[in-house]
Amino acid sequence: MNILAQYCGVVLMIVILFFHSTQKKVHLYSERAFMGIWRVTFASLLLDIMSMALLTYHHAFPDIVVETGCKAYVASLVWVAIFCVNYVCADIYKAQYQLYQKKLFLCGALFTVGVYILPIYMRTESTSKTYTYGPSTYLTYFLALLVLLVLGWLLYRYRDSTSARLRRVMGAWMGVWLLGAVIEFVSIQFWDDALLLVGYASAVGTFIIYLRLENPEANLDWKTGFFNQNAFLLYTGQQLFQKREFYLLCMSCSLGTSENTSSGTDEIVFKEMTRFISKISGTKVFRITENEIVFLFFDKEEEERVYRQLRSRFKKPWGKGRMHIIRPKWFSLTDTGIVNRAEDLLELFQYMLQKSIGSGEDNDYSVIDGSIIRELNQEKEVEQLLLKAMKQDWIEVFFQPIYSTEKGQFVSAEALTRIHDASGNIIPPNMFIEVAEQTGLIVKLGEMVFEKVCRFIQRENPARYGIEYIEVNLSLIQCGFDHLAEGFINIMKKYDIDPNYINLEITETASLNEKRTLLTNMKALREFGVSFSLDDFGTGHSNLNYIVEMPVDIVKFDRDMIQSYFHSEKAKYVMDAAMHMIQGMQLQIVSEGIETKEQYRVMEKLGISYIQGYYFSKPLPEREFLEFISNG
Ligand code: C2E
Ligand code: MG
Ligand code: MG
Repeated sequence: MNILAQYCGVVLMIVILFFHSTQKKVHLYSERAFMGIWRVTFASLLLDIMSMALLTYHHAFPDIVVETGCKAYVASLVWVAIFCVNYVCADIYKAQYQLYQKKLFLCGALFTVGVYILPIYMRTESTSKTYTYGPSTYLTYFLALLVLLVLGWLLYRYRDSTSARLRRVMGAWMGVWLLGAVIEFVSIQFWDDALLLVGYASAVGTFIIYLRLENPEANLDWKTGFFNQNAFLLYTGQQLFQKREFYLLCMSCSLGTSENTSSGTDEIVFKEMTRFISKISGTKVFRITENEIVFLFFDKEEEERVYRQLRSRFKKPWGKGRMHIIRPKWFSLTDTGIVNRAEDLLELFQYMLQKSIGSGEDNDYSVIDGSIIRELNQEKEVEQLLLKAMKQDWIEVFFQPIYSTEKGQFVSAEALTRIHDASGNIIPPNMFIEVAEQTGLIVKLGEMVFEKVCRFIQRENPARYGIEYIEVNLSLIQCGFDHLAEGFINIMKKYDIDPNYINLEITETASLNEKRTLLTNMKALREFGVSFSLDDFGTGHSNLNYIVEMPVDIVKFDRDMIQSYFHSEKAKYVMDAAMHMIQGMQLQIVSEGIETKEQYRVMEKLGISYIQGYYFSKPLPEREFLEFISNG
């Protein structure tokens, strides 16, 4: 009997079972469906060995026993293919796959009846060439091929909703199985020794599925042993699909990046924290990103209990000598009905994190509800609009004139960006600048705006109306971009703009890194001839020290500060003091947001050199701006 291949197959299957059963699993449909493949493939291998034994020792058994045994084996081949289709269905139809499973198994039962009804013939005269043939065997091959075709069709039909990896792996499974079948068929026809490889090929196919799709390790975070992002997406996707209620608690804190965990203390803290979390019962733990851990519950009370447990532990220090205090941020999502896809959950947590960092609030616990989803969706809409506006060139620059109290005329203007939508509605910057900053689009947008300003200066030469320079806003993100100066200098050269004609407005940054890059950019641009203003002075983000450190020529008093000057005695003193100090440093001041004649008079009396505000004009589109300054 030539059944070495079958023995190898059995060993391979046992190895798969060993590893599969000893690893931590998430409990996905596909895991269950994979075990189906394993069972049927293993049974098929055993039946193969049994049928070969029956054929070899056929004298010792009644014909009906030998025949039934051989038919059981050939029928099992069809079942292997059917279970593979079932596996793919579990991926495509998720919870509903059980519905299809019933139909599939019914087909399998009908096929089996067909295989049993038809006669089977046996070649037994030479022990090196024992095999079955005849209508029952041919029907089996035909049916198995048919099921494989269905499998191929499913993978093709659902190519958009299934992963490329699933398609590749199942394609490989089919390839291996067909190769085994072809070698078996050819060897029976033409060689002295029959190579009965189909059973072994199925085992190899199962091994490939295990390695590439079902290895539970693929769902684990190797560093913590918690489930990883992939497992989170699959598992929550499954729960959402089933409309099963569940609760999520996300803990966000620096769990140590790969660089700083190499230092001894951090590694100890990290391990201690991991050990503590892994001991918590009643929850599934996922490490969805480097610094975020999500706890999943099916019971609200459990969630509250675990939150209390975690919170009280995090109040105490960690590490050797108890030196490290870690303050995580917590995000709780109790109504998972507000999302449709597992990916939305990830996005929500990212969004919350970004928001909490951006707001700088002390609050470390937030509940994610419908309003957050609406906010996020609105931001996504703005992002889409912004992308479209950048592509279609729906970007416009408005100019707001700036008046010199000394010269009694308009000497400058601030460039302020607007975008418009398909129907021409103008969208103000407070609607899109923040989104542009969060998505990083601001760098490209900022360059486009700057190019538009330069083109305008080249084409219209506003100097002929007494405009001495144009102010352009820079976002902090742009300031922290290494190639800012280089890009801006190139644009100025392209349009042959005198750099003295450009003044860039910066705002204060708390980040040291950003400040360093900003200073390098400023140095290069100043050497080229560009000057700088400090915008938004008096908004709470500004301190006097910043003016000392930053090489700026102009300080712009924010509208809020000006407004409070008129409403509060204390604010008056603060602004007076600030003004004297700034003037003492030989810097110019622009007062923004001057709306009335009275306000203008007060500013003029105070000795503020430049005034900007609705009192003179709102920001105007190019044409109107030119008309305005040519008359002013
Ligand atoms: P900002 O740089 O402080 O610009 C001044 C804002 O105050 C402008 O709003 C202007 O229209 C408004 N303003 C001026 N005078 C008055 C007044 O008398 N009363 C009132 N109520 N408001 C007045 P805008 O154009 O909506 O711009 C808002 C902010 O958007 C700007 O504040 C700036 O930070 C940002 N921004 C605008 N364009 C750009 C850009 O191209 N790049 C970047 N990074 N930011 C920009
Ligand atoms: Mg500004
Ligand atoms: Mg301002």
